[in-house]
Amino acid sequence: MSTFRSIKGTFDVLPYGSRSEGVQSVSSASWVAAESVIRRVLNKFDFDEIRTPIIEPAELIARGIGEHTDIVTKEMFAFSRGDDNYVLRPEITAPVIRAVLQHSMQQTREVHRLFYMGPCFRAERPQKGRYRQFQQFGCEIIGSLSPAADADVILTMLAVYDAFGLSGYRLRVNSLGNPDSRKTYSDALRTYFASHKSTLSEASRNRLNENPLRLLDTKIEQERALLVSAPRIADFLDDADREHFEEVTQYLDDRGVSYEIDPMLVRGLDYYTRTAFELEIDTLGAQNALAGGGRYDLLARELGSKTAVPAVGFAAGFERLLLALEAAGTGLNTLAKPDVYVISLGPAAGQFCFGLVQDARAAGLRVSFDVQGRSMKAQMRDANKRGAGFVVIVGDNELASGSGVIKNMAGGEEFTVLFHQIVPKLKELTDVPTTS
Ligand code: AMP
Repeated sequence: MSTFRSIKGTFDVLPYGSRSEGVQSVSSASWVAAESVIRRVLNKFDFDEIRTPIIEPAELIARGIGEHTDIVTKEMFAFSRGDDNYVLRPEITAPVIRAVLQHSMQQTREVHRLFYMGPCFRAERPQKGRYRQFQQFGCEIIGSLSPAADADVILTMLAVYDAFGLSGYRLRVNSLGNPDSRKTYSDALRTYFASHKSTLSEASRNRLNENPLRLLDTKIEQERALLVSAPRIADFLDDADREHFEEVTQYLDDRGVSYEIDPMLVRGLDYYTRTAFELEIDTLGAQNALAGGGRYDLLARELGSKTAVPAVGFAAGFERLLLALEAAGTGLNTLAKPDVYVISLGPAAGQFCFGLVQDARAAGLRVSFDVQGRSMKAQMRDANKRGAGFVVIVGDNELASGSGVIKNMAGGEEFTVLFHQIVPKLKELTDVPTTS
């Protein structure tokens, strides 16, 4: 019988990284390190974490993202039990708004600043930077109509990449207008593309009725040629939309952010109104989107809210960030290292050291020890390989004298320390704060 493998488009995050290239070569310690950088930035921008379930009602996602989007029609991991239909969440914005409504969070505060980080699932064709299980992080400002919120979300997003020292990305922004202007624009696009129906692929012809905005995203060369003369959203915005967009871009200008206004930027999800933006980087190849987002003033109503809950947010791909860092040569390669490695020789010393290891851990140190009964030399080699900061050596002589040897692996100095003073001395040497 052959052994099992992870499902195509999913991967394991291993403590030392795997031998495969790309995102799988990143160690779990680097994942954690990157996640904490992201959390730090998002906290600094005054966002609090929200965690929602990985499974959600299928209807929530269909209504939230849009029945006719690629995600909902083609990419859902969906299943039923009895009469209930579930999906593995393909994104986290609709779940966050569900949670806000479910817990009547609008009653406790008018504005919520929430961030999330966790796995999402889309049944796309796997390739570099595109997986079936991937991790998204993002933030949402819920309850504000202000252009300052849009700009704050964009600045937060950029601050994450800046915190990693990543540069060379490109920010594109656009306004999709309010629901009415968006609808008039949609109709104008439908009329325009309908007059070029013979040039359209079958898929695009199908999209024409349901969601003509999606045609602006086309990758087909002859369809792209049609875009040149297609109606532009800018001509359909009303004064309030235009003013909102100008204010957003003014904030970005004031902060010296470079961006490009792209009238063809529509994004793949139906719920956007007014501001939409995307962050790309060339080093990722075909899957070049690092993050994207926008304003979604209609989503809450779509999900059953009686009152309008204006909101704006961004969502970013965690693996794409790792890949972009790797491509920039600033890949993270953190490996978790023990503070201390306790080396013992012989059963009596082994027994004593077992207690020493647990005591040192209780004092807040990360401590490794041998569980294979290896020679002292082999244990020393292991301590070296693991990058331990200090080793403690206890053999028969030490047992007899009631003191052990602490060795600094970096500097080489050795200290002979009475047993009861080993843990305090290690704490002093490693400068670990007291945990209790
Ligand atoms: P979206 O919700 O489609 O705008 O996605 C937001 C971000 O998530 C994208 O910019 C990508 O960085 C990332 N992303 C989306 N789909 C995938 C996927 N299948 N695999 C890896 N990352 C993805």
